[in-house]
Amino acid sequence: MRLVVFGAGYVGLVTGTGLSDLGHDVLVYDIDPDKIAKLVSGRIPIYEPGLADLMHRNMRGGRLSFASSIADSFNTADAYFIAVGTPPDAEGAADLGAVMAVADTIASVAKRRALVVVKSTVPVGTCDAIQARLAGSTSPVSLEVVSNPEFLKEGDAVSDFFKPDRVVVGARSEDARQMLRELYAPLQLSGERLVMTDPRSSELIKYASNTMLAIRISFMNEMSRLCHATGADIHSVRLGVGADSRIGKKFLYAGPGYGGSCFPKDVQALAALGRQNGVAMRVAEAAHMANEEQSLFLADLVDQTLEGVRGKQITLWGCAFKPETDDIRESPALRLAEALLARGATVVAHDPEAGPNFARHFDGRLTVKERDYDALDGSHALVLLTEWRSYRAPNFAEVKKRLLAGPSGLPPLLVDARNIWRPAEVLRAGLRYQGIGVSLQRVADRPSQR
Ligand code: NAD
Repeated sequence: MRLVVFGAGYVGLVTGTGLSDLGHDVLVYDIDPDKIAKLVSGRIPIYEPGLADLMHRNMRGGRLSFASSIADSFNTADAYFIAVGTPPDAEGAADLGAVMAVADTIASVAKRRALVVVKSTVPVGTCDAIQARLAGSTSPVSLEVVSNPEFLKEGDAVSDFFKPDRVVVGARSEDARQMLRELYAPLQLSGERLVMTDPRSSELIKYASNTMLAIRISFMNEMSRLCHATGADIHSVRLGVGADSRIGKKFLYAGPGYGGSCFPKDVQALAALGRQNGVAMRVAEAAHMANEEQSLFLADLVDQTLEGVRGKQITLWGCAFKPETDDIRESPALRLAEALLARGATVVAHDPEAGPNFARHFDGRLTVKERDYDALDGSHALVLLTEWRSYRAPNFAEVKKRLLAGPSGLPPLLVDARNIWRPAEVLRAGLRYQGIGVSLQRVADRPSQR
């Protein structure tokens, strides 16, 4: 098939590249000319494991190309994919400006019957609204709008594309369903993973999925705060709760709060959708509030454990919102760094991939180091925020050497906001340990959380 993808971000680039690897002829368009210039010269503007090799192979094979201006090559696609951003507006609802702009472009370029496949995360009713917009346009051809939300996880996106848990398609006509069945057939070889439904249900599945995951995280984060207050231990609580097969083990890790370009905005967009439709989304609202509170809790925890952060230097290991990505959107590290700076601390950070994005964001208000241990020199505490593999087994003796002693001669402090270190090992190295919801009376013989 001839496919055009609008948006060369995390979703558009992975989708376009993945589809070209399945043998389709794919053109990826973005309004950002710098991004496209990089892609055309074979450089990849984001960090996503495995994507560069795949992209190069399909560019060499002539199946994948990029454009930053609209040309005749756009006229004859079998399907146009919309993969542009849908950031929150002032009320938390999804801003559909870019999605609608793309719909207008498609209406003006399409010269033959085609599908318009909406991969962007959009509120219920958006596909119908785009369909109505296209019907009111001057487009000379029939264009059917289909919902096909994206479920990829940054850091694992290539593998998620080829081995999805499910592919959700919301389409009204049998023709459209059949075309998407064919398109995704190569991904169904090890079992049917297609969920076929109507566009509105498909749109809601995406928000419901992200919000459900966010709720689990927020619930466990609240439990971690209750552990701090009561002397219970979050590791034991998680193991005991997750052992129930109805609940399951995944997404029960307490931490610094969820971040990224999806959970925070999608939870709020679902709440906004509820408000617009007169349905109170109390659980989603609560998940969002608990997440905000977790950031504050972490800032307070660092502040209290250090007996005040004013005038002190704090090192953050991890700027990305999760490992294996350079994406810092809504990252817990952003929130903690802002809180520490506001309280008068100096912040030094390191991340294996997201350091340059973090430095750009703070524009000189903090320092980002190239090497993890160099970021420790002269700091009063190290806060671990992203569980990158390279942070999992540090040389704690070296960490101790680089950090300054705490107040009243206490050993230097490690705040493990992902609970990945073995507390006993940290203590043995002569450091102080503070986890999230971790009972210090029980650290001696317990393994790390993950
Ligand atoms: P992104 O910000 O990385 O990329 C969006 C791209 O769209 C940018 O490169 C931007 O320049 C481009 N763009 C904006 N307006 C355009 C236009 N009119 N024409 C062409 N390009 C345009 O965003 P993303 O993370 O890829 O997310 C895209 C959508 O997919 C969002 O709705 C998001 O919620 C959803 N989503 C994201 C993820 C994820 O993990 N990032 C996962 C699932 C779903």
